[in-house]
Amino acid sequence: MSDVAMKAAPMSGDAARIDEFRNLIDGEWPRGGGEPFDNLNPADTSDIVGRFQASTAEDATRAVAAAAAAFEGWKRTPISKRAAVLNRAADYLEAHVDRSAREMTREMGKALNLAKDEILRSAQTLRFYAVEGQSLTGEVFPNDDSDMTVYTLREPLGVVSVITPWNFPISIPARKIAPALITGNTVVFKPSSDAPLSGYRLAEALVAAGLPKGVLNFITGNAGEVGPAITEPPVIRAISFTGSTAAGEHICRSVGFTTRTQMELGGKNPLIVMDDADLDKAVDLTIKGGLSLAGQACTGTSRVLVMKAVRAEFLARLVARVKALKIGCGLTEGMDMGPLATARQLDTVLRYIAIGKQEATHVHGGERLTGAGHDRGYYVSPAIFADVTQQMTIAREEIFGPVIAVIDVESYADAITKANDTEYGLSAAIVTRNPRVMHDFANDIQSGTVKINRTTTGNLVNAPFGGLKRSSTSTFRESGRTGLEFYTQIKTVYRGC
Ligand code: NAP
Repeated sequence: MSDVAMKAAPMSGDAARIDEFRNLIDGEWPRGGGEPFDNLNPADTSDIVGRFQASTAEDATRAVAAAAAAFEGWKRTPISKRAAVLNRAADYLEAHVDRSAREMTREMGKALNLAKDEILRSAQTLRFYAVEGQSLTGEVFPNDDSDMTVYTLREPLGVVSVITPWNFPISIPARKIAPALITGNTVVFKPSSDAPLSGYRLAEALVAAGLPKGVLNFITGNAGEVGPAITEPPVIRAISFTGSTAAGEHICRSVGFTTRTQMELGGKNPLIVMDDADLDKAVDLTIKGGLSLAGQACTGTSRVLVMKAVRAEFLARLVARVKALKIGCGLTEGMDMGPLATARQLDTVLRYIAIGKQEATHVHGGERLTGAGHDRGYYVSPAIFADVTQQMTIAREEIFGPVIAVIDVESYADAITKANDTEYGLSAAIVTRNPRVMHDFANDIQSGTVKINRTTTGNLVNAPFGGLKRSSTSTFRESGRTGLEFYTQIKTVYRGC
């Protein structure tokens, strides 16, 4: 397939050319109705990664109509053919991994190796659902009538909307779109306006793989304009959304009774460090979980609850390690932490750091970085706060940046009480050598993902993922086999002779 990116006219002055990327609606690649917007590199805002369509509500409505028109045909397409499309799209992603990884790093700042891993994991997700979707079964129910068979059928819902954030700009779309397609649904996909290119590459891969027209529609643009048009019409049978709790709750309130929702939202994830913990490991897990994406992971470690007996030593080792981190552009090998993804992120994180400096003990970092390649990017040094208490803002609100709040705890019970004292429940971890504590933690913690001697971040393609409390709608889990259930409805058939 030819590359569908369209070249725009050269920019005035420096003669730089900017790639323009269009929507995908009903198998065509049209421009949107609004003035296109630029996608900037957060490591160097003079670098324009691409120009995208500012779609109007009318564009979005056409995308929904195309998905509705394609539904019956796709539903009736043999499942082996649907699976073959996913497998070929996985091939395409793998074949283009180097190009796409560089683009991802340029559009949202994560290190190149993490971008590559994410693309390969997305290919793995497509392959997983190509297999798993083909073994989705119903049930047969014993009954007293020997002339009757009672069984369930699983069928697709219809048109589903997929709305995704910028921090995992291809793996989150892949884990929503692949189960939707393999089960026979058609999709309208809106990526984040802050990192639309990676999602575009996924759409491109599926088109290259032979997906029929209208089955996947890709549309970029402002959420206020496009959002209602792809969430509120009754023809939208399901919405799979990942993003902030505020936006997710807004969407849930605005959609109709017959629209199924799956919302993966914010977190305030704790890591508990017990007094028997391997402290170097605890420091390592704090840094990996809290800072590797500059703290911009929904499952990122933001609260570290440390037993008082080891608190001073833990803090000293953490600060020493954090001071040695290399912060710079993700395209440069050896960097430990990149920039924040957007100017809005930068403002928010600096605001929380200022609040932290007023309410807690500021131990390290939290400055906007300048000079040495940082001037044109959204760089902040990792901030560490100690003596953080439960009522403080930095202990309660999701910051989504490289800010670690260290909270003292007296005992395991105290740690659990404090860890659970949050409106969120996405991921939680503990570092301990005690099997009894490991066992109790899995039962006591109010969290959809529970990690023992592992980072709060990261989840398997083949295991369920989702949060408790305000971190998710407690309806359907994403990922793994359970990820298929959201996209199907059950009919119970009573068949007599
Ligand atoms: P966001 O501002 O809520 O945006 C997420 C997506 O929703 C974007 O595509 C956005 O479009 C769109 N959107 C926003 N308001 C909408 C509306 N009313 N109707 C329809 N679409 C709407 O979140 P973000 O800043 O991109 O991502 C960070 C948040 O995502 C954090 O809270 C993080 O915890 C959460 N997150 C959760 C998970 C999880 O699995 N639980 C994973 C990753 C991230 P625009 O870009 O055009 O505004």
